[in-house]
Amino acid sequence: MSLDDAAEDLASDLGVDKAEVKADLEKLVSYSVPMDEAKQSLRRKYGTGGAGDRGEPPETDVAEITTDSGNVTVTARVLTVGKRSIRYQGDEQVIFEGELADETGTISYTAWTDFSLSPGDTITAGNAGVREWDGEPELNLGESTTVTLHDEPLEVHEEVGGERDLLDLRPGDRGRTVEVRVLEVERKTIDGRDGETEILSGVVGDDTARLPFTDWDPHDAIEEGASVRLEDVHVREFRGVPSVNVSEFTTVEPIAEVEVSESATRMAVGEAIASGGVFDVELVGNVLEVRDGSGLIQRCPECGRVVQNDQCRSHGAVDPEDDMRVKAILDDGTDAVTVVLGRDLTEELYGGDLEDALEHARDAMDREVVSEAIAETLVGREYRVRGALSVDEYGANLDASEFAERDDDPESRARTLLAEADGGSVDASLGVDG
Ligand SMILES: [Zn+2]
Repeated sequence: MSLDDAAEDLASDLGVDKAEVKADLEKLVSYSVPMDEAKQSLRRKYGTGGAGDRGEPPETDVAEITTDSGNVTVTARVLTVGKRSIRYQGDEQVIFEGELADETGTISYTAWTDFSLSPGDTITAGNAGVREWDGEPELNLGESTTVTLHDEPLEVHEEVGGERDLLDLRPGDRGRTVEVRVLEVERKTIDGRDGETEILSGVVGDDTARLPFTDWDPHDAIEEGASVRLEDVHVREFRGVPSVNVSEFTTVEPIAEVEVSESATRMAVGEAIASGGVFDVELVGNVLEVRDGSGLIQRCPECGRVVQNDQCRSHGAVDPEDDMRVKAILDDGTDAVTVVLGRDLTEELYGGDLEDALEHARDAMDREVVSEAIAETLVGREYRVRGALSVDEYGANLDASEFAERDDDPESRARTLLAEADGGSVDASLGVDG
């Protein structure tokens, strides 16, 4: 069949202009695409004919896709593309993940084949699978999916690209780009799935938040104090907070110094708990109670776990080491958290060091006197606390890095008043005088 005849056939099949079809065919054939494949490609490009021929499911709007949808055909704009290596059925496999959008909504996707997707592309994904992921529908682009690229971009409401502030990252995000300063970093050796491997872990910050990070493929540019653009990171949950994951596919570029906010994110307790965990948060509330396991405690010298009666859960009978801590319940009217204070903050509140506390206990012949003295100071007073909040099956715990009576800090009080005057995120029930 001559090219002219083929164009005529296609044009009448698809109901489009013959000259246009012929020009497209000529172009494909000039790229050495076999005639049959070229015709298939044009059937897909010009729509329904191709779908019908291949038994592809009908076009579906993104908003109409549910976890019960079978396979679908979707025309959408590629918002983000993240590349990741996973272990699937025993094999290492590179996958591509991100979000697609049309005028009706957005949906996550995973591509198990490299379709060379780039953010901004407008595609028709024919015969894409739908699976449930975290209760939401997700598109699966695999070997039976056809991906056709369109020249004309589809207008969507969402911004194309993965640029985000740290505050806006959520566990499960993929293909994100952040500009951060490396605040802390350490090299660690871990037992990975392929034996011992070196990783970097630490903390990064921008002007909205600080977050922990892990670099699974140590990059030289990630060093303390460096400002870097991290292109294509994914976000996982680590100890109840979002964590930035840098991989072998992440591009790391040094950039001009990134401003890092000095203050933590100020939130109401209820709001902080609802967010599922915040790495660096400031809460203000009243201490209702000092819990058991506060004051003088003893730890296993091997693993640091708190032990009772010289028995460690992992190491049996041990010669324990003395330590001090506080577990206090802080409530602001919206919810309550357990604030955990380490030795330094505990000594400060107690007004003496570990030696003083041990002497106090010996004199009273009761170790509880230390915890009681601390409770006398704390309970009923209002405190401003800063630290990492994790939320898990054990409840909401805040590992404190700062803990101060609210009245003792006029600067923070001024900031709070300003935030409240601003209509900031401070819950009205906090009040100014508690
Ligand atoms: Zn132990």
